[in-house]
Formats: sequence, C-alpha cells, structure tokens
Amino acid sequence: MSLVVMKFGGTSVEDPAAINRTASIVAGRVAAGKKPVVVVSALAKVTDQLLRAAACAAAGDRTGSLAISSRLRSRHRDTAAALVKDPQAGAELGNHIDEQFNALDEILRGLAAILELTPRISDLVVSYGERLSSRIVAAAMLERGIAAAHVDARDVVITDAQFQKAVPLDSVIEKRAEQHLKPLLDEGKVPIMGGFIASTEEGITTTLGRGGSDFTGALIGGALSADAIEIWTDVNGIMTCDPRVCPDALRVKVISFEEAAELAYFGAKVLHPATILPAVKKNIPVLVLNSRNPDNEGTRIISLAPHCKSPFKSIAVKKKLSIIDVVASRMLMTHGYLREIFTIFDKHQCPVDMVSTSEVSVSLTVDSTDKLPAIAADLSQLADVKYEGRKALVCMVGEDIRGQQGIAAQVFNAVRHINVRMISQGASEINMSFMIEEDDADEAVRSLHAAFFKDPDPEVFDVEAQKLATQPAS
Ligand code: ADP
Ligand code: ASP
Ligand code: MG
Repeated sequence: MSLVVMKFGGTSVEDPAAINRTASIVAGRVAAGKKPVVVVSALAKVTDQLLRAAACAAAGDRTGSLAISSRLRSRHRDTAAALVKDPQAGAELGNHIDEQFNALDEILRGLAAILELTPRISDLVVSYGERLSSRIVAAAMLERGIAAAHVDARDVVITDAQFQKAVPLDSVIEKRAEQHLKPLLDEGKVPIMGGFIASTEEGITTTLGRGGSDFTGALIGGALSADAIEIWTDVNGIMTCDPRVCPDALRVKVISFEEAAELAYFGAKVLHPATILPAVKKNIPVLVLNSRNPDNEGTRIISLAPHCKSPFKSIAVKKKLSIIDVVASRMLMTHGYLREIFTIFDKHQCPVDMVSTSEVSVSLTVDSTDKLPAIAADLSQLADVKYEGRKALVCMVGEDIRGQQGIAAQVFNAVRHINVRMISQGASEINMSFMIEEDDADEAVRSLHAAFFKDPDPEVFDVEAQKLATQPAS
C-alpha cells in the first residue's frame, strides 16, 4: 500500500474551517487506499507571536508577554472547541491546551525575571506552536472518523544541538521512525505530528529553522522511504514567481529536484531549502499542492523533468541581504588572498551567497546582518572593508541557461531601468542571479516575468488557468 507523507502549512490549519478542509483531504487519501503520515505546522502566525512573547519577556515586559500568551490560549481553545464536539474528548483537549499554556507562562515569567533569551529557550518557547496544532488536528481527525494517532515529533526527529537551525541525524531518525511510526502504520493508524520541532538525543527541544515543517515532512518521507511527499500550502504549486508580487504568475506543472532546490535556496518561500535533500537521496517525488483547491494537480518535483521550451522555469528573490566590498592593493599578483578572506567567513560560520572578484577587490553577499560588524572587523586586518544592507538577489532558474545564446542580454534588457550591483552566471547551468537594491526587487520580478513568460511552454506551465483567468466573463 502506498505510503504518503502529507505536510500541511500554517494556513492549512489556521482555523476550524481550514482544519476541516485538511481533514477531508487526509480522509480522501485514506479512502483511496493510501497510508498517510500527517505533519502540521503551527496555526498561521503563531510562531511569530510566540517569538514576540519570548522577546517581550526577555526585554522585561512581563505583562505584554503574558497578554500575547493569553490571546494564543484563547485562539487554541476556541479552535479546539469548534472542532471537537465529543464532551470527553473536548474536555481532555481543553485541559491539555491549558496545561501547555500554564507551562509556557511559567517559562515566560522566568524569562522576564532573568532578562535573557538564549537560542535554546527560544526553541522551547516556539515549540508550543506545533505541539498544540498537532494535538488539535489529531483530535479533530479522530472525531471525523480518521484513525488518527498523535506522535510527539520530538521523539522521532532527532538533531544535533544547534538551536534554531538544528541539523537532523538521519540514521537516528530512521530508527525512531521504525520505532514510533511503523507500528502505527501497520495497525492502519494515521500518525499526526508537528513539523519544525525536534529534539537532541538527550531530549532537549530544538527546531529546524523557520519554515522547517516542509523539512520535517521530507525527513519523515525519507526515513520511511515513502512513495510521495506532499507539501500542502495556500497556492496551486510552485509558480513562475511569487504570486503575491506578480498576479500573472503561472503554475509550474513539473520541475526537477535540482531546479526546485535552487529556487527554494534563493528565496521561493513555498519550499524550505532543505526539503529536497531527503527526497533526492531516496528519489521520492515531492508534490506541492493547494489545500484550498485540492483538485488542482499542483507541482510535481521529480529527478528528471521533461525538456522545457521556455528559457526559465521560475524567478526567486532573496531579500535582506548585505553586500561586503573588500578592497586591497595587496591582492595584486598574489595568491592565497581569497583563502584568507573565506577563512574569516568560515570562522564566523557565515555562508556566502555570491562572490565577484576583480584585480584588487572582492565583493561578497551574505544574509546575516548580526555577524557583519565582527566579520568586517576581522576583514579590516587584511584590507579596506565596506558593507551595505537592504540588498536583494534575483535568481532566474531554468534548464541549461549556460547553453542559451543571448540569454544574458535579454535578462539585463528586461531590467535595464534597474541598477544591477553584482552578477553571477555560469557557476551553475540552471541558475542566473544578480544583486539589486531591495526596493527594486518587486519591480524587477514583474519586468522579468513580463519578458520571459509571454509564450510559456504548455507542457510545463499551466497555460489553461491563465487563459481562463483572462477570458472576459460572459
Ligand atoms: P506554508 O505556511 O504552507 O508553509 P508559506 O507561506 O511558507 O506556506 O509558503 C507559501 C507562500 O510562498 C505563498 O503564499 C507565496 O506567496 C510564497 N511564494 C514565494 N515564491 C513562490 C513561488 N515561486 N511559487 C509559489 N509560492 C511562492
Ligand atoms: N511554524 C514554523 C514557522 O512558522 C515552521 C513552519 O511553518 O514551517 O516557521
Ligand atoms: Mg512554509
């Protein structure tokens, strides 16, 4: 029987109506003879609010922090009450929610007393989002006749102790999935677990980084060698660009693992950048689907996508980047200089997105702002250093960009009204990127979209939906 991991994002569990839709999607898979494992995010916006509550408490605003927690308690209690009508199950769930919020309030009071928020405590606070959502969704599904069984994700997803961006330990996760999920699946149950949250082998709560529930879905899919990993969200799939920026965005029907990974890394929020890795390892197809429009076929991410006649599949944008210029005449005719520069970035554990060099200068882009002053201080031992924030990297992803004659001219012609600071082409066959001011990013995407998706390949893009949308109403 085919095993499918179904991950539902925050908007797919944001309120009782969304949770009801999610339950019917899962019931549909069970009715079709599939064995689902369900991974859910926190209710929409809850993670942000928990982080705010923690920050408020650590800044000494005990009352403000507890007020946020109290609003969250009411939202979770109301959502649970609207979904679970069985008196006993409803009372149990209500008590559970109260116990969780009592524990959370204790932590927030503690933070307000010690006035310090460590990454470890931040992960503990934020974990309540997925701990609660998974309980509520499991209870709602049980009441709707689905044989749901709640599983604490922290018993299965084991990581190292890098709080806020923990690295999963694949072989341990495989063993834990065998231990905690396989027996439930064998009994015909549907395991329901929270995404994003994990734990060290010693049982300390960690998280996989913002947007990490997609990664949980993929890790579980990999550990169980699932037949498919489904990412259910609030758009019809991976689109030709963020539909919030450009309403003409088209659904990409099929895309390769490599292209999807590149898009996710370079800012397409629809997928967490690490999602593709576990899928690639076991060659598991990933489907991106819309829980508000479940009949739409979504995007299929597979190892070998069919040939596409259009030059690009999608445009991604990574914002909040900084550019660092390192200028030294010492670089002239020497070697080993770049190594010295990269050693400094390595020392500060700061990944570099793009590099461009000239005879005497090196420009680099990074997405960390808090580490910049320390990095600049170290670099200034070697050369003159300048850095500037509020930059954005626009990344065009497509098949064999390197082999297409005149493509760079077309790209830069489309954005000729925008100042381009750095360019990278040729490092990858499937990616062409350039750096601009953050304020110009949306305009650049719209111009590029208008230039490159005028005549999209119907084999790869959902051209029908576009035609329907532009047809005048009769
Ligand atoms: P979830 O809560 O389900 O994980 P996210 O908000 O993380 O959902 O991701 C979905 C959002 O990603 C969409 O609403 C859309 O605005 C944004 N997005 C950015 N780039 C793309 C893209 N290329 N295709 C589809 N959605 C995109
Ligand atoms: N709830 C977490 C976040 O908002 C994880 C996720 O939704 O993927 O970042
Ligand atoms: Mg997400």
